Amino acid sequence: MKKGELVYEGKAKQVYLTDNPDEALVWFKDDATAFNGEKKGTIQSKGVINNAIASFFFKLLDSYRVSTHFIRKIDERAMLVKRLSIIPIEVVVRNIAAGSLAKRLGWEEGRKLSSPVVELYYKDDALGDPLINRSHVAALGIATPERLDVLENTALKINTILMEFLVGRNLLLVDFKLEFGTHKGEILLGDEISPDTCRFWDATTNEKLDKDRFRRDLGNVEAAYQEILKRIGE
Ligand code: UDP
Repeated sequence: MKKGELVYEGKAKQVYLTDNPDEALVWFKDDATAFNGEKKGTIQSKGVINNAIASFFFKLLDSYRVSTHFIRKIDERAMLVKRLSIIPIEVVVRNIAAGSLAKRLGWEEGRKLSSPVVELYYKDDALGDPLINRSHVAALGIATPERLDVLENTALKINTILMEFLVGRNLLLVDFKLEFGTHKGEILLGDEISPDTCRFWDATTNEKLDKDRFRRDLGNVEAAYQEILKRIGE
């Protein structure tokens, strides 16, 4: 497998072409950003840890018949994936109020939601990824109602799978963000599942073991990411 031209560079990952046009290589960086790129830094070994965590979760989801872009982990920092045409919608699922939801509704962080909340954000850096609803999606023409149903239902299924898995690791899945794309007409889960894109709290102490340690300058960021890797058993 040849690492070809760099085709995309995001905040936390680079995407390279390979010798197979249907596949791409995702390379995980140590760079971290928050607040729409206003806060920048690096988290030691984050790329290695997140590649391991994301690879693990993609394999877990695959075992529950959730279709993802993941093919295999190539090395410490890289995974091979199916090339996607990304749907510009970020799907957020929440089980406990935190972050922007707590702020928007004036709720205390940690308030348990009676049922999972699904939110949609329009993936547009220049606009700061605004919160949108189904009719915005229709007006923007970025997904049909049927396709949006698939995204939302898949996101809720993933929530159930991850929550059940994490409860056995004494972790709470507070919320997380997913991105999807199409590959040969099929909708696949893309991007990553990691402490960059999820909020994980220790179920006993509510200690934050995710990117909020970086966002809020709580310290021990790398140790928190390592702890997630350790708890999932990788
Ligand atoms: N999230 C993400 N990328 C984003 C925005 C949010 O991965 O660009 C994740 C975030 O880590 C959290 C969930 O989505 O697990 C909900 O984030 P929230 O809306 O509370 O925004 P934040 O407080 O992170 O600004």
